[in-house]
Amino acid sequence: MAAAQVVDTPIQTQIQKDAETGCCIAGGGPAGAMLGLLLARRGVRVTLLEMHHDFDREFRGDTVHPSTLEILDQLGLAERVHELPSNKISAPTLLTTRGPFTPFDLSRLKTQYRYILMVHQKDLLALLTQEAKKYPSFRLLMGANVTDLIREDGGVRGVRYQTDDGIHELRALLTVGADGRFSRVRHLAGIEPVGTSPPMDVLWFRLPHLAGEIDVPGGAFGGFASGHILGGFDRKDYWQVAFVIAKGSYQSLRAEGIEGLRRRILDIEPRLGKNVESLTEWHQVSLLSVESSLCRRWYQPGLLLIGDAAHAMSPVGGVGINYAVQDAVVAANLLTKPLLDNRLTVDRLRTIQRKRQWPVRIIQAFQTQLQKRVIATALRAQEQRTLHIPWFVRAFTRIPFLRDVPPRIMAMGVVRVRVEN
Ligand SMILES: Cc1cc2nc3c(=O)[nH]c(=O)nc-3n(C[C@H](O)[C@H](O)[C@H](O)COP(=O)(O)OP(=O)(O)OC[C@H]3O[C@@H](n4cnc5c(N)ncnc54)[C@H](O)[C@@H]3O)c2cc1C
Repeated sequence: MAAAQVVDTPIQTQIQKDAETGCCIAGGGPAGAMLGLLLARRGVRVTLLEMHHDFDREFRGDTVHPSTLEILDQLGLAERVHELPSNKISAPTLLTTRGPFTPFDLSRLKTQYRYILMVHQKDLLALLTQEAKKYPSFRLLMGANVTDLIREDGGVRGVRYQTDDGIHELRALLTVGADGRFSRVRHLAGIEPVGTSPPMDVLWFRLPHLAGEIDVPGGAFGGFASGHILGGFDRKDYWQVAFVIAKGSYQSLRAEGIEGLRRRILDIEPRLGKNVESLTEWHQVSLLSVESSLCRRWYQPGLLLIGDAAHAMSPVGGVGINYAVQDAVVAANLLTKPLLDNRLTVDRLRTIQRKRQWPVRIIQAFQTQLQKRVIATALRAQEQRTLHIPWFVRAFTRIPFLRDVPPRIMAMGVVRVRVEN
C-alpha cells in the first residue's frame, strides 16, 4: 500500500491515498473473488476490498454447481476444490402425496461433474483468493468497508473505504460493485433494483448426524407438512437443514418457542426425533429473508455491478453463487484487454450486462414459476401432510427428451460460460 498521507478534502477528515489500481472490486464474495483472480492472472492491477476480517459466515450458500466446477477445472483448481471438506448431491428425494419424488437427477448431465458439490463458501473464497495472491498484481484488503464512490468528470473513479486505521481513497479505472444483495456501491450509484416478492423465507440450521438414521442416497432429502417445507443436505459431519416458511411468518413461529420449531420438523420427518434435540436456542437458527431482484442498469461510466448486487437470487435451485461466478467470468473475458490497455468504454460495460441479463431473467422466471406453483401452494396447505407436485412437473421429470432440460439449466446455467483468456 502507498504511504499514508494527510490531505485536505471536502469531507473534512483525514484520508489516506492508495496507489491507483486498474480495477477495484468492492466485496469478496464468489463474484468479487473470482473476478479478482481472473483479472490478476492476466496481469491487471486489481484490489479486492472485503468489509469483514474473514470469510467465515454461517449459511452463505455452499452449492457449487457443475458450471462452476467446469470453470474451476479450466483454472486448474478442480482437484483442490474437491480436496476441501465437501459432499456431493446428485438426485435429492422429496416425500410427496404419491411417494418419493426426485425433482432432478444430475447423473445424466454431459459434463465430467454430474453433481452439486457442497463446499463451505469460506473455503471456496479462501481457495480463490489464495490462488489470486500468487499474482503480483493482486491485492486483497480485508476489513476494508467501501463507504463512498469517488466521482470525477461524470464518472466513477474509485472508492473511499474505511479500515481500523481510518479512511482511505483508492482510485481505479473501473470500480466493480460485487458487494451482494444489500450493495452499498449500488446504493451510492443511485441504482435501484426492481424486486419481485418470493412467497417464502428460509430458516437455516444444523442438526447432528447420528448413527442409524435416515439413509439419503442422493445426498439430500425433502418433505412437507402443515404449511412448511423441510430440506436436508448431507454435509458428512452434520445435516444442513433448510426450513421454508411463509414470508413474514418468522415472528409468530418464534413466539411459539424453539420447541414449536422442533415439533414442526418432526411433523415432516419423524426420523429426526433424536437429531432435533440439539436445537435448543433460536441463535442456532439463521433467517434468510428471500429476495429476488434485477437492476435495469448494471453500469455507469467507470462502474459495473455483478452478482447479487446486480440481481439478488432466490435460493430455489441454489444458483446464486454460480450465477455470480458466471458474471465474473464474462466480465473478466470482456474487461481484461481494455483494463490492460487503460481504455475502458461504457459500451464494454453495456455488453457485459447484455450477455448476463437474459440468462438471469430466464432462471428468475423459472424460480418464480416454482415458487408460485409448488412452494406457495405447499405453504398455504395447512392441513396437507405431503407435498403435491403438479402434473406438468411430474411429466417433465418422466419424459426422456424433456426431463434433463431443467436440471441442465440449473446445473450448467442458461448458457455455458468459459474463461476465454
Ligand atoms: C442464508 C443464505 C443462504 C444461501 N444459500 C444459497 C445456496 O445454497 N446456494 C446458492 O447458490 N446461493 C445461496 N445463497 C445466495 C448466495 O449466497 C449469493 O447469491 C451469492 O453469494 C452471491 O455472491 P456475490 O459475490 O454476488 O455476493 P455475496 O456472496 O453476498 O458477497 C458480497 C460480499 O461483499 C461484502 N461487502 C458488502 N458490503 C461491502 C462493502 N461496503 N465494502 C466491502 N465489502 C462489502 C460482503 O461482506 C460479502 O463478503 C444464499 C444466501 C443466503 C444469505
